[in-house]
Amino acid sequence: MDRLSVSDRDFIIRLRAVLGETHVLTEPVDMAAYLQEPRGLFHGTALAVVRPATTQEVACILKLSAEAGIAVVPQGGDTGLVGGQIPIAGTKPLVLSLTRLDRLREVDLHSDTMTVEAGMTLAAVQEAADAADRLFPLSLASEGSCTIGGNLATNAGGTNVIAYGNARALVLGIEVVLADGRILHDLSKLKKDNTGYDLKDIFIGSEGTLGIITAAVLKLFPKPRSRATALIGLADPRAAVDLLTFARNEAGGSIIAFELIPRIGIDFVLKHTHGNQDPLAKTHLWYVLIELASPQTEGLDDILLRILQGAMEKGLIEDAAVAATLAQRDAFWRLRELLSEVQGREGGSIKHDVSVPIADIPDFLSEVEATLTEKVPGARPVPFGHVGDGNIHCNISQPLGADKQEFLDCWDEVNTIIHAIVAKYHGSISAEHGIGQLKRALLPNVKDPVALDVMRTIKQALDPQGLLNPGKVL
Ligand SMILES: Cc1cc2nc3c(=O)[nH]c(=O)nc-3n(C[C@H](O)[C@H](O)[C@H](O)COP(=O)(O)OP(=O)(O)OC[C@H]3O[C@@H](n4cnc5c(N)ncnc54)[C@H](O)[C@@H]3O)c2cc1C
Repeated sequence: MDRLSVSDRDFIIRLRAVLGETHVLTEPVDMAAYLQEPRGLFHGTALAVVRPATTQEVACILKLSAEAGIAVVPQGGDTGLVGGQIPIAGTKPLVLSLTRLDRLREVDLHSDTMTVEAGMTLAAVQEAADAADRLFPLSLASEGSCTIGGNLATNAGGTNVIAYGNARALVLGIEVVLADGRILHDLSKLKKDNTGYDLKDIFIGSEGTLGIITAAVLKLFPKPRSRATALIGLADPRAAVDLLTFARNEAGGSIIAFELIPRIGIDFVLKHTHGNQDPLAKTHLWYVLIELASPQTEGLDDILLRILQGAMEKGLIEDAAVAATLAQRDAFWRLRELLSEVQGREGGSIKHDVSVPIADIPDFLSEVEATLTEKVPGARPVPFGHVGDGNIHCNISQPLGADKQEFLDCWDEVNTIIHAIVAKYHGSISAEHGIGQLKRALLPNVKDPVALDVMRTIKQALDPQGLLNPGKVL
């Protein structure tokens, strides 16, 4: 406490009066874990880290911060990939950790809803739904650590978006503490409520810049009781998009995954891992992993076979294997899930979290390939991911034999090339991970000026002192 100014010291004393000694951290060694993220890309500084356990405590902290003019950086599980949860280095805000707000408030099976506090991990939310014999479908590789509050603040995506939508689509109500400490009680369970603006949607995806999410009413779904999975070989992304359109018409909402994999990705997996096999008798330039799921116990296999047969007759696919066992299903999924990891073993990889309209994916990918071949000779595109969401992880591996660092030094140049093509197709430069501090400077180049102006107006109205997560998004 010695290094603090008198006003900062007074502020800390007032925080401790609300939270007690243990939950106001000021020593560098205690704060360290909250000031960097696991990849070590962002490092921040802070006046203190506070760990409230109730909405009321969050409200008191925000009231005190507003009075003292101290900025607040909300943090959940600290798994965000754009630095939104880490304070800007050299500044002295409070880091507000939400992880102690971790209670399951209610499960209501008649409304099919669950009311949860923001600091529950996504895995804990999924487990609570499972215990009630329901499904909460949001699923991310970080689910053991990320919190539902962070998921809503970033409008997280993940693997089931094609069937259930992203985080925004899974919420009915929300509780938020505003910048001045007032609590917005909007924990509605209503599916129909047209009494003015839908306020929850202003806070979802706002990355902690408009308010602190302290609780939410989540939608629950019937648990899938059967699955059918196939790995399909096809000629090109155009065939994949046509297959998706055909399959949707046959299977509707039961398609829960439709993942595109390029041959180069399969080659990387086979080269860098053990125990994985080429999934089909011959090699194909592209693959699709399709999975259907249903609360009914029977009927899915027939639907999948009908899709494959019809697609074969239409000339959309070249070959397919249906998973006959759980082990086979896992083997197919492993080929998809290992893609990020094996790319790392091929040297430098420049990543993009982009989306374009589904119909434009084939042209987008062709243009990426053509432009990169010209501007960065030898660069190897390894685009894969959620075709059904228009969200392709457009990752670029370094040329064979190139120097890794020299290639990674082209990060901005390659980003600029890809983002320009994304803009041409009216896509998004951040499909899932948000803007945070990483993409803040890019936003004015890609966002409609009127949309940006409206965003600034909302920010000014809800946070006139600019204290909520400064230096992020806008
Ligand atoms: C291995 C891995 C896989 C991932 N896969 C995916 C994926 O498939 N899809 C995807 O979308 N993301 C993915 N992510 C990114 C990340 O997990 C998500 O963005 C997640 O939603 C962040 O949750 P968190 O609790 O960790 O939030 P944090 O990282 O702590 O914070 C993220 C942002 O939300 C704000 N925030 C956090 N809590 C609150 C709150 N209660 N109120 C207001 N603002 C808040 C923070 O200020 C920050 O701006 C992945 C990350 C990793 C490490």
